[in-house]
Amino acid sequence: MTQLIDRSELKANDFKGEVHPDWCPGCGDFGVLSVLQRALAEMGIYQHEVMVVSGIGCSSNLSGFINTYGMHTLHGRSLPVAQGFKLANPEMNVIACGGDGDGFGIGCGHFVHALRRNIDMTYIVMDNSIYGLTTGQTSPTSGFGMKTKSTPFGNPEVPLNPIALALGAGASFVARGFSGNVKQLVEIYKAAIKHKGFAFIDTFSPCVTFNKVNTAQYYREGTIDINAEGHNTSDKLAALTRALQPLDKGIATGIFYQEERPCYEEEDRETLAIPPVKHKLGITAEQGSKLCKQFM
Ligand code: SF4
Repeated sequence: MTQLIDRSELKANDFKGEVHPDWCPGCGDFGVLSVLQRALAEMGIYQHEVMVVSGIGCSSNLSGFINTYGMHTLHGRSLPVAQGFKLANPEMNVIACGGDGDGFGIGCGHFVHALRRNIDMTYIVMDNSIYGLTTGQTSPTSGFGMKTKSTPFGNPEVPLNPIALALGAGASFVARGFSGNVKQLVEIYKAAIKHKGFAFIDTFSPCVTFNKVNTAQYYREGTIDINAEGHNTSDKLAALTRALQPLDKGIATGIFYQEERPCYEEEDRETLAIPPVKHKLGITAEQGSKLCKQFM
């Protein structure tokens, strides 16, 4: 058996996967990946203690680029799979990830219920306000009037506000960051992973190829850190006010809201007394390994 290094010696590089990311040079998703790797290393979490589950889209390829357990699922379905995984094996740190189209479009129903259900896991949305993988169509967070391949005369719909939606849906941890602000984002991810319950982080992750509006420069100049301004993270109404504040007051980032309440696993102790991973399968180890190989 391989000897594990001490947790305190873990480095971001230890979480580097064997497959090199094929994102466009300059894509914000590179920043998200490196911040997540750094956060896990700084928290002293071993690679085998993490499961990363993603949906479909450019950003959803992240689960293949990080050296942890991982699963690349279906479009908009990372949350059902991730929640099922967490309930089956509660000792794992489960992180779901994907883009704004994946999470706020086709996956929005799962998103709303995951927020109120409050299973102890983390959900990172790499929000670039565009469908990048399918070459530049309007997404749920594209701005009103934004011209894209699918709305050449301007987007006629108002954008969804993920922070306000999460607060209204009963989330226990709501935050927003920007992939270019590494220092702030590492601290947000660490707080989210540590949080007991469902932690949601909307992460601005610019698409350099198809979104010429919400660029890195746009976020670098436009974002403000509400925690540095003394925002009270236990005040839901204050969080909602920050989520809805006009853009000319700055795009709010940081931890908007955090609430300590029992997570789903603590509320449903009887059903989950023996998690499925501990159930006896009634088959031999050899049969089990043969079965697993069929899914690999
Ligand atoms: Fe990133 Fe956009 Fe390129 Fe996709 S198309 S990899 S989101 S820059």
